[in-house]
Amino acid sequence: MTSALLPTYARAPVAFERGEGVWLVTPEGERYLDFGAGIAVNALGHAHPHLVAALTTQAGKLWHTSNLFQIPEGERLGQRLVDASFADVAFFCNSGAEANEAAIKMARKYHAAGGQPERYRIVTFEGAFHGRTLATLAAGGQQKYIEGFGPKVDGFDQVPFGDHEALLAAVGPETAALMIEPIQGEGGIRSVPPQCLRGLRELCDERGLLLIMDEVQTGVGRTGKLFAHEWAGMAPDIMSAAKGIGGGFPLGVCLATREAARGMTPGSHGTTFGGNPLAMAVGNAVLDVVLEDGFLDHVRRMGLLLKQRLAAVRDRYPHVVTEIRGDGLLLGLKLNVVNTEFAAAARDQRLLLIPAGDNVVRLLPPLILTEADIAAAVGRIEATAARFEVQLRGAAE
Ligand SMILES: *Cc1c(COP(=O)(O)O)cnc(C)c1O
Repeated sequence: MTSALLPTYARAPVAFERGEGVWLVTPEGERYLDFGAGIAVNALGHAHPHLVAALTTQAGKLWHTSNLFQIPEGERLGQRLVDASFADVAFFCNSGAEANEAAIKMARKYHAAGGQPERYRIVTFEGAFHGRTLATLAAGGQQKYIEGFGPKVDGFDQVPFGDHEALLAAVGPETAALMIEPIQGEGGIRSVPPQCLRGLRELCDERGLLLIMDEVQTGVGRTGKLFAHEWAGMAPDIMSAAKGIGGGFPLGVCLATREAARGMTPGSHGTTFGGNPLAMAVGNAVLDVVLEDGFLDHVRRMGLLLKQRLAAVRDRYPHVVTEIRGDGLLLGLKLNVVNTEFAAAARDQRLLLIPAGDNVVRLLPPLILTEADIAAAVGRIEATAARFEVQLRGAAE
């Protein structure tokens, strides 16, 4: 069957009609355990009653007014995010890429406002993913995404992941900022060690650079802290967040210190849809739950348990699973078999996983999952790994 949709995705042959918590249900009533959460988006699972109530209540009142007027729910969400983070100001938008665009523009404008407009370049890291707009593609630096789309946007210098010498060599008189994910998500759940994050902070302070943290995937409780950089006891100057922050409603935010945002004066940036009353109502409802006492403790406990159980799977099937990566509920299995094939086989077991770079499959379950959900998922992963182990042994004999 031909589709009217642009064929930019190789979609799995399954569709869902509704969701309940960590479960997705097909029109035929088949139930899938959702350990992808729409790529770390459905942080509170599907059809969370508090989110449904917030959305439907707001939908009956007011959806959109534009940013030409005051938006009280946006003032409130901005203040709550500021109170809960290093930041002083928030800019709401609709996606991760847009949040990163805002971050990039802010870093450049900071130096322009300080009389150094020549400082516009941003150092990024190999394996990074910052989005699909022309600038964020250039920031991510992945050749396969850049090729064929004309000249790469100028102003990004990429260095190998973990190469301190290359980083120092890449910082020059035109450098405005460093931009990094505390854990590379799309790149294959590659964590930046805490001492490295602190080292980047020091380097930025020494050289007058801004530090941009891309927490689009790691943020909003995913690692068991509200934002992943908090584990390292340091803070960026600018940070993007998106995926989980709207619980499934398209929402992104660029957070910054007032100093880093000094160039962003009226008219310097904008968005038609960003921060509209409907999005702000949902964003506030997500924070109501994530900031509740004990919620992040739950994420940490479930994350540890899941990681332990996955380590046991690796020990049992070392030919299939070679490494467990990540923190909290942002975990990855580094595989010895093709990751997309593993994800498809897990789907046959009615478990949804998400492939990532470096031949990894990601586990990004809703943060509300229970021990029973973990047991169910691990059972299905075992069954999947067992299938491949049999094949690998057969091939070896
Ligand atoms: C998903 C992601 C983005 C892009 O977000 P979109 O909402 O798809 O634009 C940017 N950075 C990171 C780290 C991501 O995981």
